[in-house]
Amino acid sequence: ISLFRISRLYDRIMESAEAVDRLYFLSLEESDIVNMENGLKPKSLRGEIEFKGVDFSYKGSKLKALDNVNLKIQSDCVTALVGPSGGGKTTVVRMIYRHYDSTKGQILLDGKDIKEYDIQGFRKFMAIVPQDVEIFSASIRDNICYAKPNATFQEIQAAARIANAEEFIAQLEKGYDTMTGERGIKLSGGQRQRIGIARAVLANPKILIFDEATSNLDSQSERLIQDAMDKITKNRTVILIAHRLSTIRKADKIIVLEKGKVIESGSHHELAKSDGGLYQKLLRLQEMGDVD
Ligand code: ADP
Repeated sequence: ISLFRISRLYDRIMESAEAVDRLYFLSLEESDIVNMENGLKPKSLRGEIEFKGVDFSYKGSKLKALDNVNLKIQSDCVTALVGPSGGGKTTVVRMIYRHYDSTKGQILLDGKDIKEYDIQGFRKFMAIVPQDVEIFSASIRDNICYAKPNATFQEIQAAARIANAEEFIAQLEKGYDTMTGERGIKLSGGQRQRIGIARAVLANPKILIFDEATSNLDSQSERLIQDAMDKITKNRTVILIAHRLSTIRKADKIIVLEKGKVIESGSHHELAKSDGGLYQKLLRLQEMGDVD
């Protein structure tokens, strides 16, 4: 992590950007979307998402990253996005918080076109736990309250507890005051993701997006992350970019994306029975330990 990056991170803490930006650093990327004047700023959201005939291509690419995507994501459910690399899972998620606009079709949030909302007006209901949670040179405490700088220590501790991060933090010599990042200790991938979950817990989003790590975490970490996720999915819309069969199985709904198209959707049992389907193939590959 470069010095430039760190100072940029600190700048961003000082800003009052919304949780989703803070958790994913996406507003740093180029984006052409236009925020509607006097867009909707709802007081609450049910967190229902629908894609209707959505096409999307990245700039400079002829390929359709999303090709006539129709899907429904319900609230109070865990929806897993599954499929081979390059299938469009990440792009779907990016469209959900309107990092890009579709070239065709419509994305509805609680039944209204996402473009009708003020961007921060709906993004504040969303949080993302990225695959590779970014940790900066600061104390564990500051790393956790990144999405909510005015959080009390009690809130930070409660979030760490829910995220199953409390135990490893307690084992550190200086606990929550332990420095991490360049000038401090190095956290494992699993520990970083639990810090990411603690951040999301503090942000208390209606829509929680979780990008499961593809790299191998130790099994203890994996179990703790899974357990933490189970704890925080209640009363939310949870969207999971899933790679592990164990997490996919637990989802209420599975959406399989390949080459930008939704090719299957349903519950684990429905899809597992669908002979010749991609999901069934993925299941077999996973059983052989061949899927990321
Ligand atoms: P997944 O998350 O399922 O691996 P992605 O949504 O990342 O799939 O990718 C869908 C398609 O879009 C792929 O063909 C990928 O190469 C392309 N793509 C993804 N991100 C970008 C980007 N920032 N610029 C250009 N093309 C991209």
